[in-house]
Amino acid sequence: METRQVAEDIRVEGIVQGVGFRPTVYRLAEQYELRGWVLNDGAGVWIRIAGAPEQIATFVEELKGSPPPLARITRITRTALPLTAVPERSFSIAASQTGIVQTKISPDAATCASCQRDLQDPDSRFFRYPFTNCTHCGPRLSIIRAIPYDRHQTSMAAFPMCVACERDYQAIANRRFHAQPIACPTCGPQVWLEESDGQILAKGEAAIARTVLLLRQGEIIAIKGLGGIHLACDASQETAVAALRHRKHRPAKPFALMVRDLAQLRDYCHVNEIEQQLLASPAAPIVLLTRRPDRPHHALQALAHPI
Ligand SMILES: [Zn+2]
Ligand SMILES: [Zn+2]
Repeated sequence: METRQVAEDIRVEGIVQGVGFRPTVYRLAEQYELRGWVLNDGAGVWIRIAGAPEQIATFVEELKGSPPPLARITRITRTALPLTAVPERSFSIAASQTGIVQTKISPDAATCASCQRDLQDPDSRFFRYPFTNCTHCGPRLSIIRAIPYDRHQTSMAAFPMCVACERDYQAIANRRFHAQPIACPTCGPQVWLEESDGQILAKGEAAIARTVLLLRQGEIIAIKGLGGIHLACDASQETAVAALRHRKHRPAKPFALMVRDLAQLRDYCHVNEIEQQLLASPAAPIVLLTRRPDRPHHALQALAHPI
């Protein structure tokens, strides 16, 4: 005898778009042999599902208990449906629906550990590609023009996916399955270095190498990123920092300091457990730290002058 089946609508609200939620739903639905579909709409994620009642219950528990890392579920609403509402024989990700927008969007997230490994792997097609991302990291709010969150509604619409990215985007087991900002050196945004008059000095790897050289020579570089422009200079060079302070009319207020890693940071500042967690979190915020008094003043011109 066939197992008794029931059908349900499951609405998930919160930060559930652009965080790999639909792929997670898909994987769990496959795992628990459920039929139906999942889609994004103006309210969040809408799942219509049919299967054994205990399998659906476990499915919902897993979704609540282990959502994707960047997701924040605020509410799950379950509504029973007649079984005829789910004629599908398998589970699929359906096209997004527009509607009244109530859903939340994830903020941009710092490059995750897996993407950092790709960046440093010479065999990866993302090797040294600055815009590498996946469903667990990368730009979100900065690139979104409209909800539902789909590539054609982001600033990535100008960059059609190459064959390799399209393959990753379609592969359920891939970390970049339905990662809307997916990009690689073949199809994604490029880097170049230009003079203030717009003259192009270098492109790609050469642009990065030249920028490093210019920073070492004490120049100030405007680096256009996803959410705005960073003015950068070598924090250890007194004249470079002084020039930036002068131009920004910022005689004393501290600048944000970029360091390679925690070990290097500890050379200059005290870092406690909470501060360390904050720095390593997906939000990767600017954190105010206590300067080490034993460091000579000239070691770090970017930090605030002592009062
Ligand atoms: Zn990632
Ligand atoms: Zn690509």
